[in-house]
Amino acid sequence: MAKTPQQYCSFCGRPENELQMLLTGVNGYICDECAERAHQIVKETVAQANKTKDFLTSKEEIPRPKEIKDFLDQYVIGQDDAKRYLSVAVYNHYKRLMQHTTDNDVEIEKSNIIMVGPTGTGKTLLAKTIARLLKVPFTIVDATVLTEAGYVGEDIESLLTRLLQVADYKVEEAERGIVFIDEIDKIARKGDNPSITRDVSGEGVQQGLLKLLEGSIVNVPPQGGRKHPDQKLIPVNTKDILFVCGGAFEGIERKIAQRLNTQVVGYAANTNRQQIDRNNLLKYIAPQDLKSFGLIPEIIGRLPVLTYLNPLDRQALRNILTEPKNSIIKQYIKMFEMDGVTLSFDEAVLEYIVDKAVEFKLGARGLRSITEDIMLDAMFEIPSSDKKTLHITLEYAKERIEKAERLHL
Ligand code: ADP
Repeated sequence: MAKTPQQYCSFCGRPENELQMLLTGVNGYICDECAERAHQIVKETVAQANKTKDFLTSKEEIPRPKEIKDFLDQYVIGQDDAKRYLSVAVYNHYKRLMQHTTDNDVEIEKSNIIMVGPTGTGKTLLAKTIARLLKVPFTIVDATVLTEAGYVGEDIESLLTRLLQVADYKVEEAERGIVFIDEIDKIARKGDNPSITRDVSGEGVQQGLLKLLEGSIVNVPPQGGRKHPDQKLIPVNTKDILFVCGGAFEGIERKIAQRLNTQVVGYAANTNRQQIDRNNLLKYIAPQDLKSFGLIPEIIGRLPVLTYLNPLDRQALRNILTEPKNSIIKQYIKMFEMDGVTLSFDEAVLEYIVDKAVEFKLGARGLRSITEDIMLDAMFEIPSSDKKTLHITLEYAKERIEKAERLHL
């Protein structure tokens, strides 16, 4: 079809002489800019559709709690009780999300989770692994930076800023994400009398947090930090956001022991007393212990799934080194493989890494830095050499660690 002298883009209506290019169709024209924009829209829509498809959409697809636990087992060592609680909570969370697509009168309540356990035992890892399974936006935030509005620190709403960012500011995506609130124990009320001075980072923050946990529309500052008048706020509904809280709650064993002691005096005293495992009191944790520790009852009520993590023993640390799907050792083997080098370790080296982690009291977090110290020189040298295999012996490992220790002095 031949063009007449003055043609217009059928989409934006601009004349040909103002455009760089005008493509001819059967019944109209499209300019380069509109074509570009159309391409962008198609790309985004398809990506969005695929993303939604990624997220499970029918009941048949919901992984059963056992399957969820199996998935967690691939990445997290031990912590069976926590995994069971989480699996059920996540399964129910799925059901809740599904419910929005079907008509139903019985509204399933949100099952936010609180995990209590020593630092470095896998709380964050569990939450992260679950987000991977759910294919939803996930973020970790630290409760220690929060303060009440009007005080120095970050407003509670900023907890959701990171979630919005990882969801690419797609509010709908963020609204079904998971937020892991670390160090929740740090906002516990200090002391029993909160009225003497204002507890800037304690009870007030808990009150603020309550709003988020129970589900409401919250105005989130897109760039985080403090709200200021010029910043445009983004309303986010927290109704379907799953909050997983974690904290070490140092000293809570004392509260548990106190409660257990008073309990065992009464009903069924003898049988209970014998069964109590004094070495791991955390497994008896109950909501009232969180209250004794300084969390307000309303917050505890909004975190109905309460579970604990065990301290990691030697065997657990040894397993963490090699068993998980992306274990530290597997990661190093992979890295060397990318340089065409087959890496292997003496069993004694793995034991030695565990010994050092125990000695430094670093828990599972230490495993990585110790392995890094052992492997650093090799990682520096090997890519420029023509070696095809590397076997790490105990002697070599000890030498590297001693060298690293001298450097750290
Ligand atoms: P926290 O309990 O303080 O949240 P993390 O989950 O962040 O601890 O654990 C720190 C690191 O230690 C993790 O990245 C992971 O590599 C390792 N780790 C801790 N616990 C486990 C576990 N049970 N199984 C596997 N790895 C673990």
